[in-house]
Amino acid sequence: MAQKLRIIPNLDRPDATGASGRLRHFPEPEEWHDHVELDANEWPKMVEKRYSLVPTTCFNCESACGLLAYVDKGSGQVSKFEGNPHHPGSRGRNCAKGPATINQINDTERILRPMRRVGPRGEGGWEEISWDEALDEISTKIRDSLKTGAKDRVVYHVGRPGHEGYTNRILKSWGVDGHNSHTNICSAGARTGYALWHRHDRPSPDHANAKVILLTSSHLETGHYFNPHAQRILEGMMDGAKLIVIDPRLSNTAAMADHWLPTWPGSESALFLTWANMILEKGLFDREFVEKWVNWEEWLEADYPEEPRSFDRFIELLMEEYSQYTPEFAAKECRIPVEQVIEVGEIVANAGSRLATHVWRAAAIGNLGGWQVSRTLHLLNVLTGSVGTEGGTSPNSWSKYKPDLFDVPPDPDGWNELHFPPEYTLSHYEMSHILPHLVKEGRGEMDVYFTRVFNPVWTYPDGFSWIEMLQNEDAVGCHVALTPTWNETAFFADYVLPMGHASERHDVNSYATSSGKWVAFRQPVLREYARREGREVEFTHEVNPGEVWEEDEFWNELSWRIDDGTMGIREHFMSPYREGERITIDEYYQYMFERIPGLPEAAEAEGTDPLGYMRKHGAFLIEEATYNKHEDDGWPTPSGKQEIYSKSMVEFGYPEHSIPHYRVMSHVHPDNLQEEDEYCLLPNFRLPQHIHSRSANAKWLAEIAHRNPLWVHPNDAAKLGVGEGDLLKVETEIGWFIDKVWVTEGIKPGIIGCSHHIGRWRRKQDSGNRYMTNEVEIEDFGDGKMRMRTVEGVRPWESDDPDTNRVWWRDGGVHQNITHAVQPDPISGAHCWLQKVRITKPVEGEKYGDVEVDTNKSFEYYKKWNEMAKERETHPRGERRPLWMNRPLPPRKEHWFMRE
Ligand code: SF4
Repeated sequence: MAQKLRIIPNLDRPDATGASGRLRHFPEPEEWHDHVELDANEWPKMVEKRYSLVPTTCFNCESACGLLAYVDKGSGQVSKFEGNPHHPGSRGRNCAKGPATINQINDTERILRPMRRVGPRGEGGWEEISWDEALDEISTKIRDSLKTGAKDRVVYHVGRPGHEGYTNRILKSWGVDGHNSHTNICSAGARTGYALWHRHDRPSPDHANAKVILLTSSHLETGHYFNPHAQRILEGMMDGAKLIVIDPRLSNTAAMADHWLPTWPGSESALFLTWANMILEKGLFDREFVEKWVNWEEWLEADYPEEPRSFDRFIELLMEEYSQYTPEFAAKECRIPVEQVIEVGEIVANAGSRLATHVWRAAAIGNLGGWQVSRTLHLLNVLTGSVGTEGGTSPNSWSKYKPDLFDVPPDPDGWNELHFPPEYTLSHYEMSHILPHLVKEGRGEMDVYFTRVFNPVWTYPDGFSWIEMLQNEDAVGCHVALTPTWNETAFFADYVLPMGHASERHDVNSYATSSGKWVAFRQPVLREYARREGREVEFTHEVNPGEVWEEDEFWNELSWRIDDGTMGIREHFMSPYREGERITIDEYYQYMFERIPGLPEAAEAEGTDPLGYMRKHGAFLIEEATYNKHEDDGWPTPSGKQEIYSKSMVEFGYPEHSIPHYRVMSHVHPDNLQEEDEYCLLPNFRLPQHIHSRSANAKWLAEIAHRNPLWVHPNDAAKLGVGEGDLLKVETEIGWFIDKVWVTEGIKPGIIGCSHHIGRWRRKQDSGNRYMTNEVEIEDFGDGKMRMRTVEGVRPWESDDPDTNRVWWRDGGVHQNITHAVQPDPISGAHCWLQKVRITKPVEGEKYGDVEVDTNKSFEYYKKWNEMAKERETHPRGERRPLWMNRPLPPRKEHWFMRE
């Protein structure tokens, strides 16, 4: 029609040369090495372009969606990324961050060569060095440390892992308990609640087949498993599922919901227990599942020894226990209408075995006692019998493939108390967010500290304390930042080593993004393209831009150099196929893929081997669906059942939490916000276009979202006397920041919202990420007082990419996280992100973007919270933590006990 109306030229005109311009299906993998498309830049001329389409996976969030790199056969470079329809998780679809990978690899400011610090650490002086120099110098420092016998002074601290088991194997080969992660600012709260039930610490909701989808979210479906879950939620809704979203903020997901419940942060458990009570009272619980699979007898034995051990009596006692959770109580705690509590409760109670639930960061990482949220949410699945069912919620490990590695070194022979301090007996992951304070208390030091895709100075709370720690060369002997792009933490490193983006590296991925189990292959696409063209490539850096390495090959080479021939490390890097020779990266994956169930057969059917299959397709579906695995395997808990009663909670000093309850009042509960100007700051929601601190080099994403104003409800704006764009001063326990107001009904009254991701910065002497960084000045007033001020916002600049000169936005937002106090939950160990704040108007001289912090105050505040864990520190049988619970990179069992 457009052609006939002559709005566009006639694309079927007879003089068109080359490709016909007809619509056709997406090409099959057999055609991927010789794909022809018309060149969009030549339009309306019809000029053909030839591509090799190489599958890989996205590295911009955890989901690892499939990408297809379009390698231009003319230039030999990648021209764009699209979705890989053969990836079982993403099925050809991506969010905005997937295709934006092209921005990241073409970033004109990316780091292309190894850099070594010149001058004092953190002052911004750098020189380029060779990889040989970097590897030799770093390996010498690690060797020196290992030879002292220390097991806790070489540390690898990871932000986004994106691989399966690779670096754990490396650390084991070095013999160190040196794994640290970002999990305690992310998912540790939710994980603890789930682990108490069944050791598996993540849920996998089967949204596509659900009758009711219940999300407790501040960013859930814009962050974790965003695109794979979003498409399945929509499928479920098209089949009639009801979507319920619990969130004080009207997120994109909440805007799509049938029921949006803007509950007060931290009150969610009151709501879930009320709904549990409704299920019990109405007799809608799944008797067969609960009677068979829940350790109700243990609870009766422990708390009601005089009572008969009958299931009916258990139900009666549970109803008595939960009778306090009435709809009126939930409505009061949540600050929502009682009618809504009842109406939505009816929907949940009638979901039966098709109740798909999820909480990931959100309330579970926001509040003191946030772990209660996942524990009580899972109670709803248990009562409705929707654990492990079609349309229900399964443990995520059922859908996750764990690779067989060619060599498994022994577990670490030590326990790192900087990561697992003794007072946090139930912390599910490392206490990484209080690391600077533990160091300040003199609890340990590090000889070599790797940060990898990890930017705590910016992403974590209390970033100035991180700067203090990183600048202290006695505490951190050597800091090596492995990163594809500059970041605020790399500014305080000794070495900055450039690592590949998604299409420039190897990894294997498997995530529970659906009810099936899949494995995907992140491969360096130019290396695979070279292979298809018959060119031999020994190392990935030969085809990567500049001297960018991939991590797999970096760790292998570093490990080889650490060992002077006496340390037994090299024996873990020998080829399983060629006696006495070093393993290659192809062999590493060959070994793994040969052992994936069903893959060798699928490969043979296509006349190739497993590695060839994965290079060609990029992913493989191992199991269509993974329901009801407990019927064969049971549950990996001490009782072998779902644990409504946790003996571990009792033994480790928290008897009041023996069964799920709402017994911890959040630090931002309305009762704790008594003053007129006190509010709850909700700072832990994501924007769907950004990754915490790795998207500031993606120009398309930066153009879409680059500011983080304060979300203020109109009632609060009226009370505060401010309107759109006015400035407000947000005072935390340790400092303050100044931001602009966005008046919106999308936030609950009494709550102030401010997004993650935005407010990136660089000082005059620093480089990189100019699409999203303000230039700032940092002043140290001494005595712990620090101030950051914006000198200049975002500006265009000249480069080889004409788009850098077209940057039209000027506002790079405000760095709020650096003003947050650390708030370690005494049970889960998670950082409680929500902040109690005072909101006032700035006084004269205070400007937009100003930030002030007192790190002495933050240390004192940390001690107050740390005391909560110390008061309850208990070690039954000398155990540091329950022996049955997971721990990342678990050391040998003898180290799980306190030393005499
Ligand atoms: S959801 Fe988006 S960012 Fe995450 S892996 Fe998929 S495409 Fe990449």
